[in-house]
Amino acid sequence: MATAATAVDTAVTQLEQAFEHLDLRERTRQELLEPHMVHRVAVPLERDDGSTEVLVGYRAQHNNVRGPYKGGLRYSPQVSADECIGLSMWMTLKCAVMDLPYGGGKGGITVDAASLSPDEHERLTRRFAEEIHQVVGPMRDVVAPDLGTNAQTMAWFMDAYSKAENETSPGVATGKPPAIGGSYGRAEAPGRSVALVTRAACDYYDQPLEDATVAVQGFGSVGANAALTLDGWGANVVAVSDVDGGVYDPDGLDVEAVRDSGDAPGLVGDYEGADRVSNAELLELDVDVLVPAAVGNVITDDNADAVAASLVVEGANGPTSNEADDVLRERGVPVIPDVLANAGGVTVSYYEWLQDVNHRTWTKERVFEELESDMATAWDDVRATYEATHAHDDAFTWRQAAHVVALGRVAAAHEARGF
Ligand code: NAD
Repeated sequence: MATAATAVDTAVTQLEQAFEHLDLRERTRQELLEPHMVHRVAVPLERDDGSTEVLVGYRAQHNNVRGPYKGGLRYSPQVSADECIGLSMWMTLKCAVMDLPYGGGKGGITVDAASLSPDEHERLTRRFAEEIHQVVGPMRDVVAPDLGTNAQTMAWFMDAYSKAENETSPGVATGKPPAIGGSYGRAEAPGRSVALVTRAACDYYDQPLEDATVAVQGFGSVGANAALTLDGWGANVVAVSDVDGGVYDPDGLDVEAVRDSGDAPGLVGDYEGADRVSNAELLELDVDVLVPAAVGNVITDDNADAVAASLVVEGANGPTSNEADDVLRERGVPVIPDVLANAGGVTVSYYEWLQDVNHRTWTKERVFEELESDMATAWDDVRATYEATHAHDDAFTWRQAAHVVALGRVAAAHEARGF
């Protein structure tokens, strides 16, 4: 599981590695290694039993040179200033890889979302929105769901923000329910982009998708949608897991039946006819494609040697430590990075924001068509940069290629705007 220090340390090291391949001004480098602002607020919560607690909320705003800050809100016990800063840096990179007119932000509250009743979740969200309403907004900083938050959280956040601003502002939050300007297809989007990128990578490595075996860690919004989409395209999904472990059938799972056997979204449930595997075992299964889509920092120097997959596609944010990246690189296992693979979430958030600003609704078909086209463009941009270095000794990894594409765009915006 990602610790507070890990996200920011990993992100800073990755930025520094990418800087080595770019001719950036020192001023631009320094600016990218520091978030523009980090807001820390006290968020009092009245529990249903009448007791009160003061929780801590954050909003890290890394860089807005290409557009408003953009990124999720997490409710999780691991949320800290450092975690939000690291994740906001990745959002700057992710939006730039996709060439979206956004910068990077991330925030959240240090709380176990599972400990909140729906009423407590609502009170907490409204109070958090009131505390940070002056630093967010459709043209300033746009929030989205992440771990422990969902479409309803975004609806409450948008409502509280709108009341504080005395206007109706759907564009302050994406991932909302369609009834208040949410986009069709937003919930499926990050998992769908993981599937699109997996298909492109299999094609690149001459691995027919129909023959590919796939293991997916995490069966939530990202993991389940990736598994269902890949299954629908003929891949053989052999293992999936939730926080309590997973199921494995080397002949392939009935992924829809796994989804339907769970008591709640995100859970694998009591699916029968498959072996149980631990999350650690799932990461080491002998499969063609491994998709870590649960939490950060699960492939580390402790287990990178034992990863038996031929290809890793990152569904979660930051699932691979820098040390593990080095091991996998030496072993010749390509890792398609999070900033590209799961970027469908923020891309459809952008479509949602466009729909809100223009007061127009797109069909799900249109959303998926645009997503497929934008993911293909981003894949081609990253592939071209990846391939361009392969005549040299210090060939890029896919992660370095994606970061170089992204930072080139951010640096160009810094240059154009001036300091
Ligand atoms: P989610 O809460 O919907 O699902 C998380 C899944 O992981 C669940 O199945 C849960 O049981 C499992 N899980 C939780 N802790 C685990 C652990 N320690 N080990 C193994 N499994 C565990 O979350 P999500 O929205 O699918 O997000 C998953 C990852 O994808 C996160 O890193 C998130 O930041 C990233 N992400 C999410 C989105 C989005 O829009 N939802 C977009 C891009 C990236």
